[in-house]
Amino acid sequence: MSDSETVSDQDSCETLLSEKRQEACPLLTLVVLDPTTVVDGVRFHDCYMAGDVIFAGELREICPVCADTHLQLVLRQEFVKRPHMFCRQCTRCFDGCYPDGTSALSVF
Ligand SMILES: [Zn+2]
Repeated sequence: MSDSETVSDQDSCETLLSEKRQEACPLLTLVVLDPTTVVDGVRFHDCYMAGDVIFAGELREICPVCADTHLQLVLRQEFVKRPHMFCRQCTRCFDGCYPDGTSALSVF
């Protein structure tokens, strides 16, 4: 009897810890953005070309399409109309949203 109580105590403790971690660093929902709405560029037949974009750093978020590529943070700059996350592998642009729907990148 006392054994099972100990196990359940540990479980609730771990759940509490993981909940705290999520609170401090909520998981972002990635939303694919149309590149024409985030970067000023020229559309060719099968791609969208823009000027050299400066990456602000690698994020912990991983591209949902490539599955193993960390997204790069792109801040507002010469050609960039709004901050976004960029995958160098598939060249998709993403926005990161909190569970309540607000963009995590709107602060940049
Ligand atoms: Zn990708």
